Amino acid sequence: MAHTYLIKYAEIALKGKNRYLFEEALVRQIRYAMKRTGEEFTVRRAQGRIYVDVPEEHDEDDVVTALQHVFGIVGICPVEKLTDDDFAGICEASVRHIDENYPDKNITFKVESRRARKDYPKNSMEINADVGEAILEAFPEIRVDVHDPDVLLYIEIREDVSIYSRVIPGPGGIPVGTGGKAMLLLSGGIDSPVAGYMIAKRGVNIDAVYFHAPPYTSERAKQKVVDLAKIVSAYTGPIYLHVINFTDIQMYIYDKCPHDELTIIMRRYMMRIAQQIARDTECAALITGESIGQVASQTTQSLVCTDEVCEMPVFRPLIGFDKSEIVEISKRIETFETSILPYEDCCTIFVAKHPVTKPRLDVIKKHEHDLDEDIDRLVQKALDEDELIIVR
Ligand code: ATP
Ligand code: MG
Repeated sequence: MAHTYLIKYAEIALKGKNRYLFEEALVRQIRYAMKRTGEEFTVRRAQGRIYVDVPEEHDEDDVVTALQHVFGIVGICPVEKLTDDDFAGICEASVRHIDENYPDKNITFKVESRRARKDYPKNSMEINADVGEAILEAFPEIRVDVHDPDVLLYIEIREDVSIYSRVIPGPGGIPVGTGGKAMLLLSGGIDSPVAGYMIAKRGVNIDAVYFHAPPYTSERAKQKVVDLAKIVSAYTGPIYLHVINFTDIQMYIYDKCPHDELTIIMRRYMMRIAQQIARDTECAALITGESIGQVASQTTQSLVCTDEVCEMPVFRPLIGFDKSEIVEISKRIETFETSILPYEDCCTIFVAKHPVTKPRLDVIKKHEHDLDEDIDRLVQKALDEDELIIVR
């Protein structure tokens, strides 16, 4: 008996050539996730299925946790594999499977078999009936329920025989690498890691940019962002994190522009710079953790002003979410504990006591002209000094 996990994935995206790309990406992401477990493994594709083989001695929790980080997987099934397709052996293994996995036999079950080889001496109806019979004989309390069984025992006869009944839920979504690449504006807060997670879940590769303002923001604040990127990278694969020194730009805006407009103008420069890096790294869109009305810089009017500088689409997956809903996801994906560490954020250091909540675009643009003298040079300098950290 070998130890194998059968990977179930949603068939919905699997049309024509897409199916091939989808499976390639899924296999690549499974390999990436499995490497993190330190277990030996092989990933196989056979007859439209994906299998992960591991040694007899392995930690099921570690393997399942790793696979639960791979978007595209809807179910993870620990499978018992028989290399011999002798029918008596299948019955015996099925009885043993029920015995080992369900200590309480006061349950209902149904056998669901599939026979990929038509030369097998029994058809699937016969297999269902005969294996069912063997199980009923072995355990007097157990009953059959074909409509709503507690246990659905799958038997698949292909080149070898697979027996399984447990389907552990996967994260769903689409494999990363099938949906292009986008640039995440990643701060140390709660929202942006969740936003990156959500877009990656739709198959999009993620790079990230963090705006750092030393000495106003510390090395620890930067490390926190690296740590968050690392947690997110368990789902996405390696993240290229660009750290941009934003201090001079921020100071310049602070000197030249009305303080109640500071946040908006700063955010417009963040978007411009992120967009420039995105273009240079073949990212087709930006991602932010913005949500309408959460803070002054996220009212509809403020978002209009921020968006105006963007020439590429900006994905804001949290736009209609309540904070509590975002927190719930961040706890589930385990970024929350890191996000709430109390290190300063460059957006909070220079914020005005009363930031505008209904900025007017024409007024903002007029005040931005006061930066004309030096801002291009400062932006270019920040881009030139981009520090790239590869997080995995
Ligand atoms: P978060 O919890 O993601 O920090 P927030 O509620 O603090 O969000 P803002 O500070 O207004 O909201 O930031 C809105 C979005 O802008 C963030 O979700 C993030 O995508 C981006 N952002 C803010 N600050 C930075 C930064 N220092 N570096 C990179 N991106 C940032
Ligand atoms: Mg923030």
